[in-house]
This record gives sequence, C-alpha cells and structure tokens, in this order.
Amino acid sequence: MKVNKIIHHLCKQEPCFKIAEFEFTDIRIKPTLTITTDDSGTTVTDDIETVVLAHSCEDHVEDIRKLLKEIQGSAKQSSEESKEE
Ligand SMILES: [Zn+2]
Repeated sequence: MKVNKIIHHLCKQEPCFKIAEFEFTDIRIKPTLTITTDDSGTTVTDDIETVVLAHSCEDHVEDIRKLLKEIQGSAKQSSEESKEE
C-alpha cells in the first residue's frame, strides 16, 4: 500500500484562495521535438505536453478564463509590437 499526499491547488482569483476544483491547461510542443515514422509511413509525434496554466474554484471559472485570455491576447500583441520596432 502506498499513501500519497494530495496537493491542493488554490483558486487563482485573488483574494479568493478557496480550494480549486478546476484546472486550466494548454498543450504545447516540447522544444525537443522528434518526429518518427512507423511501419505504415505515418508520422508519429508524442512530444506534446500538457501545461497547467491556472486553477480556480467553481465560482471563478469564467473570471480565470477571461484573465487567461487577456494574458494570452496581450502577450501576442506585445510580440507583434516589438517586431515593428
Ligand atoms: Zn475562487
């Protein structure tokens, strides 16, 4: 028998700090991408990993969703702006 300690994540919406019940994830391709080809010639990649972006309680799912969208949106904008300089 094995006993594992459960890690509780807290809601990211401050100053909530309730135990999070939801997890926001995104997928990204690992920097060390390797592409292999199986016998039938199909390209196989298993270098995609899931990244946890944030946690939220059930009251703040929509708030965190908006927050993450804003962060992703502004990150995209700033990278476009820096290209123009
Ligand atoms: Zn919350």
